[in-house]
Amino acid sequence: MYDRLQQERDTISQVLEAVMQHATGYLQQLPDRPPAQRAEASVPQPLSSEGVGFATALQQFSERWQPQLSASAGPRYLGFITGGATPAALAGDWLTSALDQNPMNSLDGAGQLLEREALAWLRDLFDLPAEFAGSFVSGATVSNMVGLAIAREWCGEQRGISVADDGHAALGKIEILSGATHSSVYKAAAMLGIGRKAIQSIALLPDREAVDVAALEQALAARADQPVIVVANAGTVNSVDFDDLTAIAALRARYPFWLHVDAAFGAFARLLPQHADKLKGLELADSVCIDLHKWLNVPYDSAVQFSRRQDLQVRVFQNASVYLGMPTGDPDFVHLTPENSRRFRALPAWFSLLAYGRAGHADIVARNVALADALSTRLAQEPRLQLLAPTRLNVVCFSLTDRPTAERIQTLVRLLRDDGEVFLTPTVYQGTWGVRAAFSNWRTEAADIDRIVAALARALERLG
Ligand SMILES: *Cc1c(COP(=O)(O)O)cnc(C)c1O
Repeated sequence: MYDRLQQERDTISQVLEAVMQHATGYLQQLPDRPPAQRAEASVPQPLSSEGVGFATALQQFSERWQPQLSASAGPRYLGFITGGATPAALAGDWLTSALDQNPMNSLDGAGQLLEREALAWLRDLFDLPAEFAGSFVSGATVSNMVGLAIAREWCGEQRGISVADDGHAALGKIEILSGATHSSVYKAAAMLGIGRKAIQSIALLPDREAVDVAALEQALAARADQPVIVVANAGTVNSVDFDDLTAIAALRARYPFWLHVDAAFGAFARLLPQHADKLKGLELADSVCIDLHKWLNVPYDSAVQFSRRQDLQVRVFQNASVYLGMPTGDPDFVHLTPENSRRFRALPAWFSLLAYGRAGHADIVARNVALADALSTRLAQEPRLQLLAPTRLNVVCFSLTDRPTAERIQTLVRLLRDDGEVFLTPTVYQGTWGVRAAFSNWRTEAADIDRIVAALARALERLG
């Protein structure tokens, strides 16, 4: 055995102690670290020929790289939709690496069974019926892709063919109808050979990001002789609007279509009694995408996909070979997901759900929603800013009152980033450039709102 490797096998406790201390120190400073910063361009160093050993590697990482990383797990990183990691989720993630399981089949070990338990807990958390089979995937983009792959197979079934066996050409053109579609659905359509141009944007309700169901019905009526996929959106990224899922699902009585719901972070509204009705009808979907590395606050990479037609899912994703196991009975995950070998990524979610339960996770969501509301109220009092949309859940979407140009908004975002108190990301909402503040981290507290408002005032001063 290579000497350094052998040495570190024999001193593994020192390696892990060192990293534990390092991580603890980092997490203690996390609330006060600048949430984001501009990274310096760096010339890649040559590969080490002999290796430097773990202690020196940690030192080099600490000096060269860590100071330039984002504090994206911290309380005032409000860019994109970025969750943190609860203590139990972080611990579960460490164990995932220590145990290094590959829960793809049932020939050995209980990894698959733990994943199934975590999936059952998630069904319970989101109030989804037992008919929904699921699996863990790496993020909502892949979850959307799996949902659309099953949808595509369903379109084939309507025409008596299998796209998985015969290829997309055998199916011919299909279309996806959707309102305020997330960009990842376009990516999924591209990966699946459906094509980005197959997505037909349906009109939205006035001043909303929710689809106009009457317009959707018209579009369906115009395609009554072809199988169609509808992607409903439950939680849009700018104004967190929700399609009327019950009304959309009811259209299936007249038109055949597959209903996929992108509820990447919006699904978590179901945890709050006063917001749960936004997701009424979620249980009527054919497939559902829910991200976990966002609002469940587990580390990257983690999302879940659910669908009612596991038989179609197996047709697409089966990896039939005697040595990996055949897709019979209750199919193993190797036959259900894009990967074959896969990370034991159910474990962090399992730990967090068990450690904090429904109440703990509902509390994270409730506090984030209250904080978004508080920021929204504060910004409404600032004459130099205007809200672009009502704050419906956890995202505050706002802009400058004076000249909200692309350039001024991007400058504002950079001024805020370099000021070091809060990280927000730009957007365009109904044609106007603006800024999003998205709350989805368990660490954020009321005192952070004061710091964010003060940072905004400083940045506005500088922007002029
Ligand atoms: C974040 C998000 C996605 C994509 O999620 P990833 O985890 O980044 O792949 C898809 N849909 C919606 C609505 C999202 O918010």
